[in-house]
Amino acid sequence: MSTPAYPLSLDVTGRRVVVVGGGPVAARRAAALVSAGASVSVVAPAVCEDLHDLATTGHVQWSAHDYSDGDLDGAWLVHTATGDRATDHQVSVDAELSRVWCVRADDAALSAAWVPAVARSGSVTVAVTAGGDPRRATTLRDEIGLRLDAGDLPVRHRRLPVDGVGQVSLVGGGPGDPGLISVRGRRLLAEADVVLADRLGPRALLDELDPEVEVVDVGKTAGHHPLPQEEINRLLVAYALAGRRVVRLKGGDPFVLGRGGEEVLACRAAGVPVEVVPGVTSAVAVPAAAGIPVTQRGVSRQVTIASGHEGLDWASLAALEGTLVLLMGVEGLAAAVTGLTAHGRPATTPVAIVESGCTPAQRTTIGTLATIVELAREREVRPPAVVVVGDVVDLHAILG
Ligand code: SAH
Repeated sequence: MSTPAYPLSLDVTGRRVVVVGGGPVAARRAAALVSAGASVSVVAPAVCEDLHDLATTGHVQWSAHDYSDGDLDGAWLVHTATGDRATDHQVSVDAELSRVWCVRADDAALSAAWVPAVARSGSVTVAVTAGGDPRRATTLRDEIGLRLDAGDLPVRHRRLPVDGVGQVSLVGGGPGDPGLISVRGRRLLAEADVVLADRLGPRALLDELDPEVEVVDVGKTAGHHPLPQEEINRLLVAYALAGRRVVRLKGGDPFVLGRGGEEVLACRAAGVPVEVVPGVTSAVAVPAAAGIPVTQRGVSRQVTIASGHEGLDWASLAALEGTLVLLMGVEGLAAAVTGLTAHGRPATTPVAIVESGCTPAQRTTIGTLATIVELAREREVRPPAVVVVGDVVDLHAILG
């Protein structure tokens, strides 16, 4: 058994690193070094397109000649990937003499240093080497990367942030289906110390959290607000100022009728770092789940999203062409129908109500402005539901 190598991460910012070779392997190395902030010099008589681009944009310095003495001067590190064994060997011998670490692409066994396969997720970096078998390393890396992104690994921070102030992430959870959260949102959830969860967010994800994570249910039901918005804002700020990493897990998109803007303002006012992770909004996804595209070539080229809760200007909404999507529209359904028909929308206009979209309980009720109120009563339609008004509704027959 050989002596185990010594793993290390390098800060190459501003340091000279030489890449010898002009092919795709050299290009990949150069690009990664540029991303890490190194001052990269490429030595090769000719270079591939990617390296040429890096050179013309000034990201790397290209010396267009064969490798020769002196090319390693002042370097902290060298990668050699010329495709020519004799040259790679010469580079590694020169590097050894100058005490410069050299990564040889042609022969891992003869190399003084190796580049691991890397998975990154937020501030976590996992570097994998696998006994000189790069495919084995990348396969393993891919699996670890997937599990990191899926929030399957215990990535919670074990230390307070350096300045003692945590952060708030408003995470859009998508409607219903826990699979509709973004990868970024999922990762932040896996890192969270505290989660403030809505009733309409993907609550199944809460069951997977580390038992140490504090979950605060701020869920709202129609007409009943267990926690007023001001109290939610206050909690977000208080937890973050106590150094916690807070996820505000919301249904759909935080900025679509979700009061996310107010939460961002509250955090900003208190000097708390805040970010917004967009979500899949129910206004688009729930109709889609019922086979209704909110726009369709030749049928509707615009969509209006409104809160059926608010006193809406039915005259202007009725005059708009295209699709009208009402969120929180169950209670006010009769008022919406009266408003739209009174201002000229034909009674034959198709209407759909999709309840509990993207969940196993999803149910669609299809009618027209003339029939939908009665149908909704008969079928005891309940929130959460999305109401869609417009000709696109008919498409459910072929797309649903
Ligand atoms: N920010 C959210 C909307 C919040 S308002 C978003 O972008 O989706 C709450 C309304 O969203 C509900 O009254 C309902 O109209 C709609 N809604 C949210 N989840 C839903 C679901 N799974 N099925 C149907 N409607 C849903």
